[in-house]
Amino acid sequence: MPKLLLIPGPSPVDPRILRSLAEPTVSHVGPEMVEDMSAALDDLKKVVFCAAGQPFIISGAGTLAMEIALLNLARPAGRVLVLSQGYFGDRMGQICGSFGIAHDVIAAPWGSCVRPAELAERLAARAYDIVVATHVDTGTGGCAPIEDYAEVLKGRGILYVVDGVCATGGIEERMDDWGIDVVLTAAQKCFGAPPGLAIDVFSERALARRRSLPAVPAYYSDILRWLPVMQDPSKYFSTPCVNEIRSFRESTRIMLEEGMDARFERHRTNARAVRAALRALGFGLFTRPEFLADTLSVVTYPAGVEDKAFRALYTQNGVVVAGGLGETAGKVFRMGHMGNLSAADIVFAFEAMEKTLAALGHAFAPGAGVATAREALAPCGDECAGL
Ligand code: PMP
Repeated sequence: MPKLLLIPGPSPVDPRILRSLAEPTVSHVGPEMVEDMSAALDDLKKVVFCAAGQPFIISGAGTLAMEIALLNLARPAGRVLVLSQGYFGDRMGQICGSFGIAHDVIAAPWGSCVRPAELAERLAARAYDIVVATHVDTGTGGCAPIEDYAEVLKGRGILYVVDGVCATGGIEERMDDWGIDVVLTAAQKCFGAPPGLAIDVFSERALARRRSLPAVPAYYSDILRWLPVMQDPSKYFSTPCVNEIRSFRESTRIMLEEGMDARFERHRTNARAVRAALRALGFGLFTRPEFLADTLSVVTYPAGVEDKAFRALYTQNGVVVAGGLGETAGKVFRMGHMGNLSAADIVFAFEAMEKTLAALGHAFAPGAGVATAREALAPCGDECAGL
């Protein structure tokens, strides 16, 4: 019996997506691939509300998507400002360091996020040509005020890059309306596709920046080598992972069938249900209340429940969650609730959690977690009937 994968990515993969992954491998420049890649690129623009930009889908993962964004935008004389709320913001700073890109990091304490006023203050003090923000930090559960940062950046001529690896397709990101220049993401989280793709959507302004650079310190990651392939997938640069792209296309099809607004709303409802049920069982939340994300929860234990024992038994009971990263290791568990997760999955997760807590001798009102989750999931309608 497969376990329910509630780590904060990879997310569970819908059987429709899995089946498409198992279809025969086709020519990487043949008509099937042209159709799948073109459709996936079109769909991506709808997912991030970008009418005129250029998406890139490249074999790799989120970290490659981060590198691609930085390497194709950074100017030798420029300076990058990284807004970090934790593990993956810090990684942005490390990537800049690896490539000798001049940068500063504003680091918020874990569980919090950089305030828009801090961004404004820093911009008044020093010149930057690129600002990078992590939408949701998967280490801390902090969801940054991406739209508010965009307001601060408006009219300043600064390129705005958003790491949406733990948000894109689950939480709204309106590239055109908000003036985001690059959304970078990956397939394995809110898209609910298997891992294996680096995804970057460049605005026209971001693409113009790359064109203005005579060279970049990259070969595989140089978007100008990929641009002809994205515009006409019958062209070759480097062999794309054709099966994965087909399955990714199935994931965007599922997203657009659901509708982006309905999808964002379902993520909100699921997050509320998960947190209410966790509280009913005595757990707490690591992330400050104003920065909670709809895509994952970073959860503190009640007295007497030990991290390793809890996660091991929870896995035996059918649900896999992740441990804490960095300073939170051993003190929290991280639970993803993104992608194509259903209400039934959430109810099952709390049945298994209650079983686990009971076996560990933790005192709680039996049934409280499941009942609370069910009640909070009520807006999902028929799907919950009879759960
Ligand atoms: N950014 C964020 C916000 C992430 O959560 C992750 C992965 N958890 C990454 C970047 C890096 O992605 P990958 O592991 O696919 O390289």
